Amino acid sequence: GVENKRLSAFLESGIYKFPNSNAVFVDPVRILNRNYSRFRVSPSAYYSRFFNPKFDAQPLQNEDEAQKSRFSVNNRKRKRNQKKKIKQHYALNEKELRAEQRHEDIRPFLVKAQEELIRAKELLEVMCELNCEKKGWEPCIDSNRGVTEEVSFVELGKVWQAPLYEIAIDISQINEEDEENKASPINQHLNQKLLPIFNNFVSNETNDDVVAEFLTSQYVLPKDSSFYMVHHFHLLIKFCLLLVSVSDHTYNLDLEGLPLYLEVLYDLDRGFNCILIDPPWENRSAYQKSMYPTLPNRYFLSIPIRQLTHARGALVALWVTNREKLRNFVENELFPAWGVTHVATWYWLKVKANGSLICDVDLFHHRPYECLLLGFCGGEVVDSELQFMANTLKDKQVIITIPGDYSRKPPVGELLVEYVPGLRAARCIELFARELMAGRTAWGNEPLRFQELKYFSRK
Ligand code: SAM
Repeated sequence: GVENKRLSAFLESGIYKFPNSNAVFVDPVRILNRNYSRFRVSPSAYYSRFFNPKFDAQPLQNEDEAQKSRFSVNNRKRKRNQKKKIKQHYALNEKELRAEQRHEDIRPFLVKAQEELIRAKELLEVMCELNCEKKGWEPCIDSNRGVTEEVSFVELGKVWQAPLYEIAIDISQINEEDEENKASPINQHLNQKLLPIFNNFVSNETNDDVVAEFLTSQYVLPKDSSFYMVHHFHLLIKFCLLLVSVSDHTYNLDLEGLPLYLEVLYDLDRGFNCILIDPPWENRSAYQKSMYPTLPNRYFLSIPIRQLTHARGALVALWVTNREKLRNFVENELFPAWGVTHVATWYWLKVKANGSLICDVDLFHHRPYECLLLGFCGGEVVDSELQFMANTLKDKQVIITIPGDYSRKPPVGELLVEYVPGLRAARCIELFARELMAGRTAWGNEPLRFQELKYFSRK
């Protein structure tokens, strides 16, 4: 019946809309796969956590089980947490109390979203299989061949030789019919374009996936995608100046090297109407620290959001952590500095394959959710559309997913398109990106990170 229709819509789109609800369940792999024609994001490579067949094989059966699962798995741990909680309550300072208040405000929405998930039995059934490869598709790199060291763009970008590194883009692959030939190493060298990989605008302007080579690895570039890989924060500002017309900007910056990119300038001089940002916020967790370099908050004040914004304005989506200090910084300093009006907050709720939350919902320092702050930046053209968009943008939406590895954020672009002002087709830029998307520009110090062939499957 209706449920089956909803499920087949999900299997097609990767988005499951709960009826009359502010919640959706999303399969990032299915969404990402819309970027590719000959490749698929490998589900087993994407979902390498939170599938624990030993403990979580059984989907949660009812609300009772869901209720229990919201708290820690075993009693001893729960008691310990309770003790911790009580202790915390005594020790909470003003800032912590405000954080607790924010949590209490959103908690009912999160609980309701999880309950809806548990009620969608047909969805829960397929959730346990989201990490399985699709029939007929094989991972491009055999994981049994042993682990090969991953190229660290962050490290390579820093060395003095960085400007000399080149990426080889094979443009012969597109028109070939024969799948076998495409992968053969002989053909890879027939029609190669060599481009500097760092501090350079690199794009796949074709309408098909393209495989590129760098050092000993291969990377899949989705159709109509581009990236700008930098190692220095100030290069972002420089890059932004390339995207807007020179006369527009008021930045008093060293413009050395700019003429090299005039082509880019004329191509992209109109800015973006969708700006997605996932900054490397400083974080206490050692795990996070080992994953990528972070930057102090004040650096982000100089991201020239206004200059990046399209003449008709832009939707700005910013990922933040649950730290109160950070939330205050964004609301009181960062958004005002960027000229962004905060309109709505969305929540990314993380579950395991059986529908239980990844951790106790009330743990103070470790929440099973993260926040996406949404706002608008006005362009030069004043029109009523922005206000209209701001009015229709719903607050407190909950996006549920099973998290991928390496704290990857779920792809939210798809859910945001209807709120993008201006041009029909969203011109989107992602700052601090670790992956590429069709039709988008990615900026960061490792935007090719998750494009490596080992994260993909092929027929
Ligand atoms: N949204 C990404 C995802 O889901 O995979 C994660 C982005 S992560 C929070 C922040 C990124 O910013 C990391 O890739 C980090 O290496 C990068 N980064 C850190 N310092 C940077 C800098 N100075 N310039 C550019 N990128 C930087």
